[in-house]
Amino acid sequence: MILPIVLYGNPILRQRGSPVRRFDAELRKFAEDMRETMAANHGVGLAAQQVARALLLTVIDITAAKAPSTMILRGQPVPVEEQMPLFLANPVLSLTKSKEIGNEGCLSFPGLRIDVPRSRRVSVQAQDLQGKPLAFEASGFLAVVIQHEVDHLFGRLFIDYLKPGQRKEIKEDLARIRQGLPALAQD
Ligand code: ZN
Repeated sequence: MILPIVLYGNPILRQRGSPVRRFDAELRKFAEDMRETMAANHGVGLAAQQVARALLLTVIDITAAKAPSTMILRGQPVPVEEQMPLFLANPVLSLTKSKEIGNEGCLSFPGLRIDVPRSRRVSVQAQDLQGKPLAFEASGFLAVVIQHEVDHLFGRLFIDYLKPGQRKEIKEDLARIRQGLPALAQD
């Protein structure tokens, strides 16, 4: 089932998610609805807050992105596509200090793209939809998407990384998104 996407301005995007405690059929149904919603909107990741539920659960699928990424599972590099979609419940990240600036979008901010500094590598400790521990390392585009989505789970948004001057530049975009209006066509 495709769920409505919550846009910037809705206070649920600022809520920290509750831990996932019950790894049951209801959770798996909700996770599958999140995956369908992400795919229908051509997203590479979706957090539970973006479909109006403050829960520490995100889904990621970067298969269509064709951006270089690596994933190391149990000490071995694995083909990233084979791990997609990736469901992360209760994720905890360790980040490298070295950062790289990349251009990001967000399904809760239609029509807005901004430059955000992100760590180049992440170590992830999470649980899968069965509640089993899931630990891996990621780099490249996958690492960026994981950081963006896990931020959502704690009520953080990509615009929070902007300096006050940069924030001013997107004031009109933010006002437009809050009103639910589409982006103006670029000429
Ligand atoms: Zn987002």
